[in-house]
Amino acid sequence: MVALSLCPPVIADEACPAGALGVSRTIEVDPKDGPWFGEPHGDRNFLAPGEVVLTFDDGPSPADTREILAALAKQCTKATFFMVGEMVAAHPEVVKEVAAQGHTIGTHTWSHPNVARLTLPEITHEVEATINIVQKNSPEPVAPFFRYPYLSSSKLAEDYFKSRNIAQFAVDIDSSDWRMRSSGPVISRVMAGLKARGRGIILMHDIHKWTADAVPQLLLKLKEGGYKVVQLKAKAPVQLIADVTPPVKAAPKYASRKRSTLRRYSSHSKRSAQLSRRSSEIR
Ligand SMILES: [Zn+2]
Repeated sequence: MVALSLCPPVIADEACPAGALGVSRTIEVDPKDGPWFGEPHGDRNFLAPGEVVLTFDDGPSPADTREILAALAKQCTKATFFMVGEMVAAHPEVVKEVAAQGHTIGTHTWSHPNVARLTLPEITHEVEATINIVQKNSPEPVAPFFRYPYLSSSKLAEDYFKSRNIAQFAVDIDSSDWRMRSSGPVISRVMAGLKARGRGIILMHDIHKWTADAVPQLLLKLKEGGYKVVQLKAKAPVQLIADVTPPVKAAPKYASRKRSTLRRYSSHSKRSAQLSRRSSEIR
């Protein structure tokens, strides 16, 4: 029977093989007043011991996102994708595929800036233009879920998300996949993090080949380890603010320097680690 339930409790797709990892439960997140998820502000107990949430940032990118979608489909499990507006503008067709396969889509700014340095109008353009372009390309409602680039927030931004009823996401287990160059270390780092912490929101990036390569094996390891995948869904769709244009691009400092999108986002991730290291030192 096909039922368009808001929150299907368990994947019951007849195409799923017996023993697939699946989704153990769905948590319906109430985004009212912009609650935090993940360390250090989130409620650790929103997940039970052994439960994990799979998240992927910085995409969509055609090859890597699709490889990850295929791996997730094979195990009948679901993830949350925090998409970047510029990437959506370049690869809108991938948004449809992610949504059509039942995954949750949140956002991650338009151009991946350090949000802590932005003014309120800049935050508005970065956030709202991204929500709008994702929604334009998704057959499903965009979730009011936001992850900070570099995990870097500010009081101004936090107040903004609270006023917009958009849940704010950090991370519990960082794969640090941006600094890996092969799948093995990505898997080891996630499994070691889980062993130490026992549960949590796992951060990966769907813009790296080695991450895409790691996901099939990682899902098997999660299954072997008895971990349960939880899907997050929103209790209510995000309220759109129409006609917000993307942020104006700053002129490049070195016009002759050309960098690939992949490298660009890798360096963003690298900077992320520096910032998060610094913020954990401060805290
Ligand atoms: Zn990012």
